[in-house]
Amino acid sequence: MVAEKVAEQCPGCGVSLPAADQPPHPYMTCSTGCWARYGELLAVQYSDPQRMTFHQLVVDTYAAQHPDGAEPRAVQSVAIHLMTLYLFVERDVNPALGTRLHRRMVWGVSRILDRFSVVDQAAAAAVRYSLRASCGVR
Ligand SMILES: [Zn+2]
Repeated sequence: MVAEKVAEQCPGCGVSLPAADQPPHPYMTCSTGCWARYGELLAVQYSDPQRMTFHQLVVDTYAAQHPDGAEPRAVQSVAIHLMTLYLFVERDVNPALGTRLHRRMVWGVSRILDRFSVVDQAAAAAVRYSLRASCGVR
């Protein structure tokens, strides 16, 4: 007889899934079951080039839902994932550009944010301030 696994609630996204026989992600706040299902989803994506078009959308959504506390690097990571999601959802940026967007955000946040409309400038300024504060940059 196989023992049923007890469901555990993911501290990141709140989903209840049976515990997996693998360790959780080393720094994201997630349950073993949630992390295992995410890995299964990524495996499906990697095996289908058409699904890879939306890969960055999946990665950013998962990472934003499973942050790792208030450490500056964790805050910066979540900020980049949220900024990318904003561009996909609100600005109709192609999710296939996600990897390039991340690189540009890491290396040139200000140049990207300066391209937003005047209405978006307040949000861009808030993001810029948060990134600088989280990195200890004045
Ligand atoms: Zn989760």
